[in-house]
Amino acid sequence: MTVAVVAIDGPAATGKSTTARYVAHELGWRYIDSGAFYRVAALLALRSDVDLDDPGDRARLRASLAEAEVEQRMVGGRLHTRLDGRDVTDAIRSPAVTRIVSRVADDPELRELVNEGLRDRVGREPAVIDGRDIGSIVFPDALLKIYLDASLEERARRRAREAEPPDRAEDPAVLASYEESLAVRDRADRARTTGALAPARDAVHVDTSELDLDTQAARILHLVRERLGETPSPTRGTP
Ligand code: C5P
Repeated sequence: MTVAVVAIDGPAATGKSTTARYVAHELGWRYIDSGAFYRVAALLALRSDVDLDDPGDRARLRASLAEAEVEQRMVGGRLHTRLDGRDVTDAIRSPAVTRIVSRVADDPELRELVNEGLRDRVGREPAVIDGRDIGSIVFPDALLKIYLDASLEERARRRAREAEPPDRAEDPAVLASYEESLAVRDRADRARTTGALAPARDAVHVDTSELDLDTQAARILHLVRERLGETPSPTRGTP
């Protein structure tokens, strides 16, 4: 049976979250950022000094994630993540978390915990969810699966523009370091044995290298409305 989920997967910095947020807003559905749950696990690992090479520590981490209360809520157009009642929206985007999150996510049992949480949330309301394995593993019966991609160069440029002052964002050495860290994360996300980054067989591929974010988001909303059998609004049109 089809579930009321739009799955938006793809590598980092392809505009998944902006697109998912926009589509969810337009549909009146909930937006869920699945990566935030792995980032929360990474934050817990840092806070309690977990040795990711130690199976006992890994088990301890899973236990603390299972006990943690993680909530996501839109506040003023931004998705906020709370861990046990405290806002960790910025903490889970820290470079230290980003550095280890792919290793933390490389644990089939921890992934199952995250996936159960996602399925439980969707049992309560329709959602647009972005991630790496949402269409392929977590919701194989999603209404629509989108796989976003873009060249490594373009993704590095986007990340640098978000995070750096304008002069540094164009600096070739700065861009090269963004490319390197994205490439490292891509490799880890593609190589894992469970929940690897990969398009679902029935995903619609969208290369976003040449698209601005508004065009990209509107194009995907159009695909969702088609799948839902709704006629897109003539005033909004299709870019
Ligand atoms: O989406 P974001 O870049 O915040 O995700 C952080 C990391 O979490 C990814 O690099 C990946 O290792 C992991 N992740 C995952 N499966 C998902 C979402 C994220 O393994 N569905």
